[in-house]
Amino acid sequence: MEAICPECDAKVYFEFQPKKGQRVLCRNCKSILTVIRLAPLELDWAFIEPFEDLLSDDSKERTAWMG
Ligand SMILES: [Zn+2]
Repeated sequence: MEAICPECDAKVYFEFQPKKGQRVLCRNCKSILTVIRLAPLELDWAFIEPFEDLLSDDSKERTAWMG
């Protein structure tokens, strides 16, 4: 699966099936992006969440007890 980075037009690859709202880091421009649509796969900028949220899909549960 791949999508286009809205910041730099680079292809952003997903190792796993993306989910709506999932965050992903563009490795080209380091923008933090979020999945806003699945078909077609579309990304937009993510603004609020900290960088650590990129580490895994279920990081919300983990940060709950880590932080
Ligand atoms: Zn980019």
